[in-house]
Amino acid sequence: MKHFSIAIDGPAGAGKSTIAKLLANKLKIIYVDTGAMYRAVALYCINNEINYNDKESIKNILDDIDIKIVYKENNQRVLLNGKDVSNEIRTNEVSRGASAVATIKEVRIKMVELQRNIAKGTSIVMDGRDIGTYVLPNADIKIFLTASVEERANRRYKELFQKGVNCSLEEIKNEIKQRDKNDSSREFAPLKKAKDAIEIDTTGMTVEEVIEKIVKLIPKDFYN
Ligand code: C5P
Repeated sequence: MKHFSIAIDGPAGAGKSTIAKLLANKLKIIYVDTGAMYRAVALYCINNEINYNDKESIKNILDDIDIKIVYKENNQRVLLNGKDVSNEIRTNEVSRGASAVATIKEVRIKMVELQRNIAKGTSIVMDGRDIGTYVLPNADIKIFLTASVEERANRRYKELFQKGVNCSLEEIKNEIKQRDKNDSSREFAPLKKAKDAIEIDTTGMTVEEVIEKIVKLIPKDFYN
């Protein structure tokens, strides 16, 4: 069987990680959530009292940050300097920080190297913002997932509510808008649809419907 790669990009809350994880399970291949790496960098800054908007300081401490991706019972775990921070990186504050540190070219270069190394010699579903355009420009299938801001904010709100996180829908909506702006306007590897990506607007679609649509795009000989 030939190795193949699926790149899934799109704005925050479009459903990328849910879809990518289920798809990888279905195809029995690795799933990599690249956002988790930027989140780990942001968490490092927060824990070490480094302002995540202070680009110069962050560039200087990049060598102190070691990020590893490991798999436990089929689930991706993120290790920050040896410590599993997979749960800690899911707060709103870390989301804000991740979107800020992700604008720094040096941070991106370090994360992209890690991402490309993981993707070497294996079949993979990778999700992020720049996978189809920059990290894996030769990916076999590129998907650009979108959804309306309202729908994305609602999904995030429900997800956080279920985890017991107290926040308002309005706050989440503003945050998503701000992250969209940061991600699309940054100079280096911004969020944008690759020319050869297929766009799927998931507004009003169920997870199963989206998966079905993507699976239909994958040549059968890739995974049988
Ligand atoms: O996907 P997630 O919301 O976890 O990503 C957190 C932040 O990391 C995003 O808002 C984005 O700014 C950044 N990111 C990125 N490039 C990626 C993945 C995430 O810039 N490939």
